[in-house]
Amino acid sequence: MKTTIALAGNPNSGKTTLFNELTGARQHVGNYPGVTVEKKQGTYHHNGYKLNIVDLPGTYSLTAYSMEEIVARNFLVSEKPSAVINVIDASNLERNLYLTLQFLEMGVPVCLALNMIDVALYRGIDIDVPKLSLRLGVPVIPTVARSGKGKVELMHAAVQMVQNKNYPTPIRISYGEDIDRTLDEMEHIVRNNYFLTDQYRPRWIALKYIENDEQIIALGKQFNSRTAALLEKMVHHLAIHIEKTLDSFPESILSDYRYGYINSILKEGTVRHTGDRHRLFISDKIDKVVVNRFSGPLIMLAILFGLYHFTFSYSEAPVNWFEQLFGWLGDLARAHLPPGLIRSLIISGIIDGVGGVLGFVPLIMFMFFGISLLEDSGYLARVAFMLDRIFRIFGLHGSSVMAYIVSGGIAGGCAVPGVMATRTLKSPRERLATLLTVPFMNCGAKLPVFALLVATFFLHHEALMMFAFTLISWAGALFVAKFLRITIVKGACSPFVMELPPYRVPTFKGLAIHTWERTWQYIRKAGTIILGVSIILWALMTFPTLPASLTQDFENQRQALRSAAVTEVTAQLAANKDTASLSEAAAILNRQLLKVDNQEAEAVLKHSFAGRLGTALETISRWAGFDWRTNIALIGGFAAKEVIVSTLGTAYSLGQVDPEHSGSLAHTLANSPNWRPLVALSLIIFVMFYSPCFVATVCIAREAGSLKWGVFAMVFNTVLAFSLAVAVFQVGQLIGF
Ligand code: GDP
Ligand code: MG
Repeated sequence: MKTTIALAGNPNSGKTTLFNELTGARQHVGNYPGVTVEKKQGTYHHNGYKLNIVDLPGTYSLTAYSMEEIVARNFLVSEKPSAVINVIDASNLERNLYLTLQFLEMGVPVCLALNMIDVALYRGIDIDVPKLSLRLGVPVIPTVARSGKGKVELMHAAVQMVQNKNYPTPIRISYGEDIDRTLDEMEHIVRNNYFLTDQYRPRWIALKYIENDEQIIALGKQFNSRTAALLEKMVHHLAIHIEKTLDSFPESILSDYRYGYINSILKEGTVRHTGDRHRLFISDKIDKVVVNRFSGPLIMLAILFGLYHFTFSYSEAPVNWFEQLFGWLGDLARAHLPPGLIRSLIISGIIDGVGGVLGFVPLIMFMFFGISLLEDSGYLARVAFMLDRIFRIFGLHGSSVMAYIVSGGIAGGCAVPGVMATRTLKSPRERLATLLTVPFMNCGAKLPVFALLVATFFLHHEALMMFAFTLISWAGALFVAKFLRITIVKGACSPFVMELPPYRVPTFKGLAIHTWERTWQYIRKAGTIILGVSIILWALMTFPTLPASLTQDFENQRQALRSAAVTEVTAQLAANKDTASLSEAAAILNRQLLKVDNQEAEAVLKHSFAGRLGTALETISRWAGFDWRTNIALIGGFAAKEVIVSTLGTAYSLGQVDPEHSGSLAHTLANSPNWRPLVALSLIIFVMFYSPCFVATVCIAREAGSLKWGVFAMVFNTVLAFSLAVAVFQVGQLIGF
């Protein structure tokens, strides 16, 4: 018979090191069927036995919260290894034993490799091995995987256990009166109905039902739907009861009691801290202050503000260089191409579109550098840790915060890398809820819109308004996440097992790589999709072209102006490109001509597909106070929020408006009868919440694994945004704004 021994344990406990030490070159790597989780197998010879060793993926628990957990558990159940060697990090016993308890509850033939014993010793952690073994009821062998120390003893213990059939007795942890009562009843029902009992222990099945383990619940439904329904009902009642009495969830009560159980074992003298009992390691010392309940949040705010400041002040100069570069390219095209559709396509479609996005690159790069710094130093994990309590209320996870910040949680990010950042979330539901709500953050492309409107309508309250918008977008994202988590992405929160890695001084190479990876994702957006989208947008805003008679009208107006002027003036205008050095008369003529040009641009836009759509939508958009001009700009925003301000400029016959210098647009809006502060507020709310830009939508669809989530994000967000904008506008009107 082939004897298989599986290595299991938390990530970073040293499984792979031990595996390599045991199998040497006799190993091969494949994938588990149907998933991208690596499967490593090899052989080890012990006293003439040939043992098949499998390195399981690292997991913190055995509930089906992540792919790794499912893979590891399925392996244990379907392949039934003769023994499981649970590799634990001796310097971090409390957390590592959590998984051990789960093996023991599951009734797996487990023995412990008390690995990294060297690190534990170094830190003055003295473990009474025989006592620990006795308390847990399993063989415990100290090892140092890196040097191979203890591996022979370990394999000997494992083989002995298999040969003597001397397996550990499954443990029965008490989970407090409420849970125990239901658990016992459920166990009874499971046993009497032979409910999945050929594969699992009855009590374990009951526990998994209480933990809302999807895989077991699905199996149960298939096996015997009546019993399954009964069990689910019991769990439901239990959850309500726990919520009422303890204001908590069954899952977290379970994990509390498990940790309690571990602590009682550790405190019974199995672990002693030798030397200075209060000796804290540098990281722990830093954490005393940094994640302190009082100083923690203050430090966090200061650091986040510092990041914001760093990003915006230092990126200013490079952002200007980029702008100048694209301005120069535009001028070059203008000078060398004959007027007409091609020139308009190259300037308005390609250079402006791509330039608008690439112009943000330095900003994005600085921000990602700052974020990488926080991440690589280990601080971001602390932020996630501190915010976890709040995020949990909304059905998210502490790690979600990272994605929000990258997306513009501190105004000025980008949802594209933000959506990518959700990869760090283990639970698929928390991940989905996070990636669907990150587009509500105030990304760098929404800022010019806000800046324009705030400067125009809420002068002297700029900082306050911007701060309020940040709060509104966070509140919106969190509430929508909560809404999603109780409707279409229902399911329990994953228990919080989060690494607080030791602080490290980041390496420059690491920072550079992280910064560049994220920046590159953003640049690709400009190079590929934005290019296509801005060409389409250009076409929508250009075709159908004005009828020849109208174009002729504008041309006639220009002719009339020119012929009314003195010849010298027109000559000066034709010869001189630099408006600053014109004589007064020439400058006046220049302005008049420009006005006609802009009126023509407005007419072209109104006549185009986009213009017609904007006009048609006016009947509905009136509810939120938006006129046809705003509608066109917002349609452009579906492609990329960067185009909103410039399109608004064209629609108000101001020519192309540079978002950085939108003074004339501000002036026009302030004097337009269609506009007032209430309209601006309603528009800001709409822009904040409506459809993610095209690239973000594509990313969402890709990361969520289905096109349907991309479509959902577009439709749901737009409906939500419109409802909010209408509410703001209508209520505002009612109370007299
Ligand atoms: P896995 O995630 O469980 O597969 O962990 P790895 O085998 O990749 O080990 C994580 C890190 O711990 C590596 O850097 C190893 O070199 C180190 N490591 C593993 N075992 C020991 C040990 O017993 N002592 C020390 N000091 N380091 C170890
Ligand atoms: Mg590994």
